[in-house]
Amino acid sequence: MKPSDTRALVLNSGSSSLKYQLIDMAGHDRLASGIVERIGEGPVADHGEALRIVSGELAAAGSGLDDERLAVIGHRVVHGGTRFTEPTLIDDEVVAELEKLVPLAPLHNPANIAGIQVARTLRPGLPQVAVFDTAFHATIPEAAARYAVDAATADRFGIRRYGFHGTSHAYVSRATAALLGKAPDEVNVIVLHLGNGASASAVERGRCVETSMGLTPLEGLVMGTRSGDIDPAVVFHLARTGGMSTDEIDTLLNKRSGLVGLCGDNDMREIARRIGEGDESARLAFDVYCHRIRKYVGAYTAVLGEVDAIAFTAGVGENSAAVREASTQNLRALGVELDPVLNAVRARSPRIVSAAGSRVAVAVVPTDEELEIATQAYSLAAQNRPK
Ligand code: AMP
Repeated sequence: MKPSDTRALVLNSGSSSLKYQLIDMAGHDRLASGIVERIGEGPVADHGEALRIVSGELAAAGSGLDDERLAVIGHRVVHGGTRFTEPTLIDDEVVAELEKLVPLAPLHNPANIAGIQVARTLRPGLPQVAVFDTAFHATIPEAAARYAVDAATADRFGIRRYGFHGTSHAYVSRATAALLGKAPDEVNVIVLHLGNGASASAVERGRCVETSMGLTPLEGLVMGTRSGDIDPAVVFHLARTGGMSTDEIDTLLNKRSGLVGLCGDNDMREIARRIGEGDESARLAFDVYCHRIRKYVGAYTAVLGEVDAIAFTAGVGENSAAVREASTQNLRALGVELDPVLNAVRARSPRIVSAAGSRVAVAVVPTDEELEIATQAYSLAAQNRPK
């Protein structure tokens, strides 16, 4: 890697899609981005074919995979287990370790590994870095990370809170500190990442101390299609009384629950439209969704003791004034007071939407997971540059 090599390619490889973004790290310019979908169905047979399509699109944008200025490829990897808590340069041994983590994330990690392997084949010798969705949560204390289940069983099967969306929580908590004119280690922030997946985190002076997702991304907030928190006995009840198989219950809770389960829609825009027409199931879905967020804000306020800011991010958090309002209503006792006029303003930049007298700042902070992955990958590649 030469000082002139300033480009980072970020790959986010899912089971049926491959998202990419090429960023010039000198000025954080997005040079190209896109998504190849329906991998495994029809013309795009596998991740190898998908990456060749990406390579073609990059070449058309003037900077193909063979571009000498490309310094690093950063891969989003969902689950790092307890083994990976930092961005990691990928070699054969790392890939073997990632394979061992597949049982913890059977829906996600195999696709991540497939993306890594084809990228290594197409650009051998180029530094490739895995950036883990779990990594930012590695600082969560044991009291918050351990589930109160039989310790030997938990240890044997790796059962604990890992947390996800870590790249976003890291980026947004830092950006929120910057918005307040403070260093990350000077503030306590509750981050609410409300996208199609949704999670909350409590970040104490730059270190994550609690998060809502757990062993898998199913726990915590109500999401587009995931239930979030439920009594675990629901699973036994559905198995014993409903005669459902493990896979059926898995699909029910991950794909047919949350907003879509409650009202048939998982897009908050559509839910808002239906509420406007007086639709009761849409109203209930919205209320359940916001109630859960409020509950977590209260809990995380207690975890942190003192809160400087609550930051809303991702598709719903950045765009839905109604969700921000409903989920921070009646929190004056916690020092949280929204300014309805500021909250209603639509903008793309980080901004404060709380009232002047609010002890806790409420902020809208757009997330940028790709930039965070690129930054972490690029910095690791630069540190490992041959002298
Ligand atoms: P993400 O996973 O961060 O891309 O967020 C996707 C979700 O954001 C969608 O499913 C929508 O529910 C939500 N969303 C996007 N735009 C808006 C908007 N203008 N108002 C409300 N929700 C939105």
